[in-house]
Amino acid sequence: MAMPVSGLEECPECGSDLRGLPPPGRCQECGFQYDESTRVWRSRQPWQRHALVYFVIGTAIGLLLAIIYRLVRGHVPYPVFPLLFGLVYAAGGLLIRRVLTGRLSERFVAVTPKGILVGTRRRNSLIAWDDVDRVSQPKGVPKIQRHSSGVPVVLEDVFERSEDIAAFRAEVKAAKKRYANGAGNSVPDGPSARGQSG
Ligand SMILES: [Zn+2]
Repeated sequence: MAMPVSGLEECPECGSDLRGLPPPGRCQECGFQYDESTRVWRSRQPWQRHALVYFVIGTAIGLLLAIIYRLVRGHVPYPVFPLLFGLVYAAGGLLIRRVLTGRLSERFVAVTPKGILVGTRRRNSLIAWDDVDRVSQPKGVPKIQRHSSGVPVVLEDVFERSEDIAAFRAEVKAAKKRYANGAGNSVPDGPSARGQSG
């Protein structure tokens, strides 16, 4: 499950231990900036979890095929056929996921003082707050709309639950207000605004 990582135990960019560095601060290894409002969402589903799901589905299909075969031919081809089918289905499923969509990357998204950081540990990019327009959610997939580009940043594999997407959208909305115009606060807060921190 994708869950907000509260209290930043480790740097989302490089994995360094941040527990000894209370916010606001900067990762000493890679320079990742954070404060008390920084939140990180990361897909918690490792490839093993995907493999297990594919295996269960594949074995169920294999079992169904064996039952149909038995009904038609009167005997079962091989007793282990459903399990073999499950293994092949899992391997194929992971391969397709990897090759076609690159979805085994464990992407993360972080709401930071500088902007929204999106990507994997090895490859990520920062969308500065003055470039962030809003987070839209067409067909349930959250997308970060930018001022500088008509192409949104799609976050299709970061969140597992709709509650996490809602929390992320709320955080982005609050952060846009919080970090607008640098440290200044020229825009008066609306009734729904959070208190200014710091
Ligand atoms: Zn770091």
